[in-house]
Amino acid sequence: MLGTLARWLRILGYDTEYERDVDDEVLVRRCVAEGRIALTKDRKLVERRALRNALLIRSKSLGGQVREVLAVTGEDPSDRPFLSRCVECNSALEDVSREDVRDRVPPYVFRTQRKFRSCPSCGRIYWAGTHRDRMLERLGRLLSDTGEGTDRKPAPDSGPP
Ligand SMILES: [Zn+2]
Repeated sequence: MLGTLARWLRILGYDTEYERDVDDEVLVRRCVAEGRIALTKDRKLVERRALRNALLIRSKSLGGQVREVLAVTGEDPSDRPFLSRCVECNSALEDVSREDVRDRVPPYVFRTQRKFRSCPSCGRIYWAGTHRDRMLERLGRLLSDTGEGTDRKPAPDSGPP
C-alpha cells in the first residue's frame, strides 16, 4: 500500500526497505534488528510493544504521506542527499566514470551529462540533469498539495495549514 511512498523516500535518500506481504512477526523482528522505523497504515501493527519505532501513516495522498514522514524526521527535503539511492532496490548509488556508461545510456544523455551514478545491485544508471529537475519539481508539487482527505491535522509546525 505504501510502495509509492517508499520510492519517494528513496529518492529523498532515506534507507527504505519495502515489503508487500510480509508477516507481522517477521516485520517486527527485522525492524528491531536493523534499527528501522516501521511505516504502516496498520494501526494494530503500530501498537505492538516489541516494535519500538513505528509511524502510523494516516494520509491518503502521497504528498501528505511524505509530509508525515518529514514531520517526524524534522528534515527539510532540500537538505536530503537527493537521488543517492536506487529507487528500485534501495542500494546506495556509486559514482561511475562517464566512459563506463557510454554504451548504457542514450547518446544524447552521454553527450550532455558529465556525472553518472549506478546501482551496484540492479545496474540502473542515474544522472542529474532533467531527471533530477523533474523529480524536484514533482516533489515540490507533492509537498505543496493540500487537497487531501486526512482525518487529522498534521503537527503544527509541519507545513502549510
Ligand atoms: Zn537498483
